[in-house]
Amino acid sequence: MGNVALDTLMSDFLQKSGGVAVIDGGLATELERYGADLNDPLWSAKCLLNSTHLIRQVHLDYLEAGADIIITSSYQATIQGFEAKGYSPEDGESMLRKSVEIAHEARDIYYERCLESSSDCDCRILKHRPILVAASVGSYGAYLADGSEYSGDYGDSMDLEFLKGFHRRRVQVLAESGADLIAFEVVPNKLEAQAFAELLEEGIIHIPAWFAFNSKDGVNVVSGDSVAECAAIADSCNKVVAVGINCTPPRFITALISTIKKATTKPILIYPNSGETYDAQRKQWVKNSGVPDEDFVSNVNTWCEMGASLIGGCCRTTPDTIRAIYRARSTRSESSN
Ligand SMILES: [Zn+2]
Repeated sequence: MGNVALDTLMSDFLQKSGGVAVIDGGLATELERYGADLNDPLWSAKCLLNSTHLIRQVHLDYLEAGADIIITSSYQATIQGFEAKGYSPEDGESMLRKSVEIAHEARDIYYERCLESSSDCDCRILKHRPILVAASVGSYGAYLADGSEYSGDYGDSMDLEFLKGFHRRRVQVLAESGADLIAFEVVPNKLEAQAFAELLEEGIIHIPAWFAFNSKDGVNVVSGDSVAECAAIADSCNKVVAVGINCTPPRFITALISTIKKATTKPILIYPNSGETYDAQRKQWVKNSGVPDEDFVSNVNTWCEMGASLIGGCCRTTPDTIRAIYRARSTRSESSN
């Protein structure tokens, strides 16, 4: 996107995307579908070590399904996590950069295919459009991989400076890697939101960011802190260009949009999970009914009418989910023209 001013990057992008942009869907579950074994504290970041072709393929699948924004495979990638696996800090940093490079490669391949294809020869290939690469940053709890990312409980001794110190170099490396923005995802509590906001204000990060909080009751973030207070922290930071919710069951989303709307005038983003339950202890998804793609997507236009302008999916959503979101939006804009 070049040297776009921070405060207009998202508004310009949303305008070019017709008012609503489509975010991609779950990465890890798709990597597993391609045969990757992610049973590891690094989770999807494990593929940065030995299966970069699979990551590239999943990004490409999402672009061909209609995603306008692809999120990198760095959610659980931390310099500290790679060190625990025996890698030097320099290797860890180059793995972070690699996550952004892979997304860029997928975007380049996609654009080449757009040029090569005539519009009627392959319906999977959509039109050339602006595509953003969002560098994922998971919480400290995601690095711990002990379930605290879904409780937001870091213990009483946790403090702001520790969290800023933990994330600083990683966020800086990702911000300098050519990503269009940073996606702070599954933010579990107010303290970590504050840490991210203060890092952005330090003057070492020169790209914008979004904050996506995680709720399991539609009222609070997972730690019990209020969604309104968390959204207000994001709202007060000039570098934040969108605020919202991810990895949360679809049934809570309308209530959460209303709450966030009162706390910020920034664009609202929503990328729920499939509605299935994650067992953090066993590190497995509990196989139950979940929400079929049609039900998930039947909510999309309601969420947009309520004020959401970036919509995608998180865990257990697939390129089919994203294709359905894309179609729901394009059918709508065609019928309103
Ligand atoms: Zn998720």
